[in-house]
Amino acid sequence: MDEDIVKRTVKISERRWGGQQMAEPKFKEPGIEKFLDQFSLSVYGRARTESIRKDICVKCGEPAKEFADEGYQKEYLVSGLCQVCQDSLS
Ligand SMILES: [Zn+2]
Repeated sequence: MDEDIVKRTVKISERRWGGQQMAEPKFKEPGIEKFLDQFSLSVYGRARTESIRKDICVKCGEPAKEFADEGYQKEYLVSGLCQVCQDSLS
């Protein structure tokens, strides 16, 4: 993963958690966004970008606001998975 994207998403998430701003889960290539949305829609019934904007987990639909550390927070902006669902994958 591109270091720049990671830094930018962390900045976005810091702003969001501090000031209740919406996140913009963006990738450089629009094709990846579309692919991930279609994938999550077919597997979980929810689009990834939609879920991240609403601060919910793409998999379980629960609010995704509390994370153990920055790594999980970053991962959420990429995968849309909350802490619990990330834990269940590892
Ligand atoms: Zn979840």
